[in-house]
Amino acid sequence: QMGLMQPHSLLISSLIVHAERHHGDAQIVSRRVEGDVHRYQWHDVARRSRQVARTLDGMTLPLSSRVATLAWNGYRHLELYFGVSGSGRVLHTINPRLHPDQIVWIANHADDQVLCFDISFLPLVQAVHSKCPTIRQYVALCDRDALPVDNGIPGLISYEQWIEPQSDDYDWPQFDENAASSMCYTSGTTGNPKAVMYSHRSTLLHAYGAALPDSMSISARDVILPVVPMFHVNAWGIPYAAALTGASLVFPGPQLDGKSVYELIEQEGVTFAAGVPTVWQMLLDHVKSEGQSFSTLKRTVIGGSACPPSMIQAFREQYNVEVIHAWGMTETSPLGTLCTLKNKSLMLPAEEQTQLRRKQGRALYGIDFKIVGDAGNELPWDGKTFGDLYVKGPWVVRDYFPGQGNAALVDGWFPTGDVATIDADGYLQITDRSKDVIKSGGEWISSIDIENIAMAHPAVQLAACIGVSHPKWEERPVVVVVKRENMTLDKEELLQFYEGKMAKWQIPDDVIFVDAIPLGATGKMLKSRIRQMPEITAYG
Ligand code: ADP
Repeated sequence: QMGLMQPHSLLISSLIVHAERHHGDAQIVSRRVEGDVHRYQWHDVARRSRQVARTLDGMTLPLSSRVATLAWNGYRHLELYFGVSGSGRVLHTINPRLHPDQIVWIANHADDQVLCFDISFLPLVQAVHSKCPTIRQYVALCDRDALPVDNGIPGLISYEQWIEPQSDDYDWPQFDENAASSMCYTSGTTGNPKAVMYSHRSTLLHAYGAALPDSMSISARDVILPVVPMFHVNAWGIPYAAALTGASLVFPGPQLDGKSVYELIEQEGVTFAAGVPTVWQMLLDHVKSEGQSFSTLKRTVIGGSACPPSMIQAFREQYNVEVIHAWGMTETSPLGTLCTLKNKSLMLPAEEQTQLRRKQGRALYGIDFKIVGDAGNELPWDGKTFGDLYVKGPWVVRDYFPGQGNAALVDGWFPTGDVATIDADGYLQITDRSKDVIKSGGEWISSIDIENIAMAHPAVQLAACIGVSHPKWEERPVVVVVKRENMTLDKEELLQFYEGKMAKWQIPDDVIFVDAIPLGATGKMLKSRIRQMPEITAYG
């Protein structure tokens, strides 16, 4: 016998137990779809998530059954995070911005039993419910009076009425930490989406990782605004990491425009926020046009797609807000790398530090990565050689749900579909998704590099780079640009702007001005749709 330590399972319920006992009075603020602002505290989340758990037990819903949500970031969604997973069921957050047919496909594939939705999505649920035979209970996330009587959905109940009969006296069940806790579908830009199933263990380890100082650095002194939706890879793990540390949370509901986000940051004293670049672009545009500044915001994590260096610079230099560029994916829970500097990098000249900050960053403990060549050979970490990025670790997917042996792995490593370089200090830089890489005359051109340069031009609102076929070079880059309102810019001026910033042969052949660039359900530019735009198909 060795003595040894207590073998507690790493369960999501232990997070809410901790938050209630040790940070019970920390605030949770939500802008609701109803329009008002709701406030309560972690102990309320705990109490009501126990009522949710009892409600599910009362339905005799078997363990591991899927409980789906179609909801913005808000307190009831947070209660479901803990109540559903804590009771042993699986929380399935569906992205409401997906096409209704895709939502139906996903709900059926996941075998969802319950669907909880923001009342603003009632028309959507009315349109799809007859095609979702597995769902036996519909719950509208609202008060009893907010539910229209003739809503056409059999058995629809308001959330408040659903949980109200249950007492909050509940002992969270103890089970294997490897049990499934929540699931998320990839956005399926090619083919049907794939389902990633997280476990209690992977979620807890990821929450620890997310809170580390060189990661999101989340503490009890933070007031966190996750602009990233709770249906986009669990808001990057922030709800769990906030419970783990006792941080306060501020939920923006559906209003993600620059003005609304800015007001919430200032009114609630937000110290830390997280989101994709397109959302921060709206915020920066607003703050700039109003001549405002941030009085409490200290740092933001930006990821999900490449953060333009001009955005990092604007936040840092004009607004004194630290930007942490991060890379991850649904299959990695999602945190993989975050860009914070090492001591020795702080000695570098300012310009070199700026160059470093634009990279996607270093591996978090719990993630290992490598880049490999076509023959599967590992490539050097020299910051120049690029190859297919592979990752592994306890919060990286092993197999997609429902796990029919269609193993996602190659020798234990998950191939990400991204192309990257890694430098001698272990900093990763994403060049492209492998399907977006532009191959010109046998050389590869990074579409991200081309976009980043365009985004630094003051008259450019948004830029996407795609490859178009070329008789001699196979493919050549063109840049698709949305101009800022009231600004003038022509093709020659933008192409000139590239000179000296990249090798001549990498400079795009052409500029195509469009009114808008199609964004996907998580706010990322959708290159597949850009390629189908009439301006593009007519090109050449
Ligand atoms: P999807 O975009 O397919 O919905 P994810 O949200 O899981 O799925 O996206 C993961 C992908 O997003 C990564 O494989 C990578 O291509 C891209 N990505 C995420 N963060 C970054 C980043 N900081 N820079 C560049 N690309 C990123």
